[in-house]
Amino acid sequence: MGEIRLDGATKVYPNGVRAVDAVELTIEDGEFMVLVGPSGCGKSTLLRMIAGLEHVTEGRILIGGNDVTSIQPRLRDIAMVFQDYALYPQMTVRENLGFGLKLRRVPKAQREARVVEVAKILGLETLLDRKPGLLSGGQRQRVAMGRAVVRQPAAFLMDEPLSNLDAKLRAQTRGEIRRLQREVNTTTVYVTHDQVEAMTMGDRIAVMSEGRIEQVGAPDTVYSSPANTFVAEFIGSPAMALVEMSRGGGDTLVRGALRFPLGDCAASLPETLVLGVRPELCRLWADGADLVGPFNGTVEYVESLGRETFIGVAAEDGARFVVEVEGSVRVTIGETMRFGLARRGIHLFDGTTGAAITTV
Ligand code: ADP
Repeated sequence: MGEIRLDGATKVYPNGVRAVDAVELTIEDGEFMVLVGPSGCGKSTLLRMIAGLEHVTEGRILIGGNDVTSIQPRLRDIAMVFQDYALYPQMTVRENLGFGLKLRRVPKAQREARVVEVAKILGLETLLDRKPGLLSGGQRQRVAMGRAVVRQPAAFLMDEPLSNLDAKLRAQTRGEIRRLQREVNTTTVYVTHDQVEAMTMGDRIAVMSEGRIEQVGAPDTVYSSPANTFVAEFIGSPAMALVEMSRGGGDTLVRGALRFPLGDCAASLPETLVLGVRPELCRLWADGADLVGPFNGTVEYVESLGRETFIGVAAEDGARFVVEVEGSVRVTIGETMRFGLARRGIHLFDGTTGAAITTV
């Protein structure tokens, strides 16, 4: 059983930095969990605590139901994959793969059989007698994964394992790691600052900020129902536009010339709210379109991706939106444009706490 449970896990470094703050999280057996957040949010520290490389200040860590909080790393039955995959250069792929088993005194015949089995899963059979120096970056990455896989640990821990690869290889290796993990069905904790990586790889993702977990959930749930403004802005690219507005006691949100009717739900809402709008719900104003608006804005930037274009717009009173249009639409920086917001799927957050309230 490879369930990992973090029970109030806390890390305070000697200099007083509270890098991980009372984290509660259960990673199910066989699950692929991604820890994602901006640099410095504590994700590597948390991973290193699970690995046993970082002393836990408070709380407990359980792997497979056993409290491992004060157990040495090598006795924790986990395998780590780092970005600098540190293969032994003088050893062949076969020797690199089998080395961990040799250290554990696994008999030779069994060791060799296991190495061949794993090489097959990873498509490394034809490379077994090569040395790492003669492999591509992607192949080396696969050998590093293979070294973790041969040992059949209770869990894999991965810290930004793809950050040394170029964009194309990264996308490919992302898919490979995911396929491999499904095949061996080993509990995996994967650290990244890249929300695209998190969204495409995780069964669930845990979004972190300042040592805390802001939200845990399936990628599409976190995208469609962010728990607060931090998650809303961090997950999704381009980011969700967040615009602070006030009710003025009525049932319409107001900011300068912007007006957003709230309808029936207005009575139960706080005075100050943050309106959250994803680019796909912010469109060019067209007669007859079923949008809230029109709003006027000045085009600040244009990001053309071919099939679609994202337009950054500064509306009156400093509110900023991102409008998604078809790739064929032409706009120029500095021009004025009219746009509107979809009538469904607009998020409302509490203006004081940032917590999600509802979607209208
Ligand atoms: P992330 O992996 O999300 O970038 P880290 O876990 O590396 O974040 O760091 C979390 C916080 O702890 C940061 O503020 C960082 O500066 C601090 N930190 C990390 N390692 C140490 C250390 N050895 N001593 C003191 N502070 C540290």
